[in-house]
Amino acid sequence: MDGSRFSLYHLQNRAYKVFNKETKQDRHSSKKLLDRAFPAVSYSENKHVNVKGNKSPFDGDLTYWSERNSKLYDGETSKVLKRQNHTCGHCGLKFTSEERVHLHHIDGNHNNWKTKNLIVIHQSCHQYVHMSKNAS
Ligand SMILES: [Zn+2]
Ligand SMILES: [Zn+2]
Repeated sequence: MDGSRFSLYHLQNRAYKVFNKETKQDRHSSKKLLDRAFPAVSYSENKHVNVKGNKSPFDGDLTYWSERNSKLYDGETSKVLKRQNHTCGHCGLKFTSEERVHLHHIDGNHNNWKTKNLIVIHQSCHQYVHMSKNAS
């Protein structure tokens, strides 16, 4: 049981009676006086505020991080990031702040900047794509 809340209840109850006795107000207005004397702050509200502001890439809010991430990249990379909905064109996973985003030219021609020829992929995926290309 919550001891402090229990005693606060009694304190309020006593104050309620005192307000009722000493002033000649009706029940409604003395309740108003009480609310001013004891501003209600619940424990659950306090907890909620404490959790906020501790956003990390590990709390499952990957979209928040990948959208924030896309602001770090400019021009074509951020455009392709938006087009791919912030997912890797190779493995299909969302980008996180953990890994750099690479712009990959599908045909290998770095002068070909057509939209069709550009995808954004993870750094590690990029390495994998080029390794497997060299192998074949
Ligand atoms: Zn990937
Ligand atoms: Zn590439």
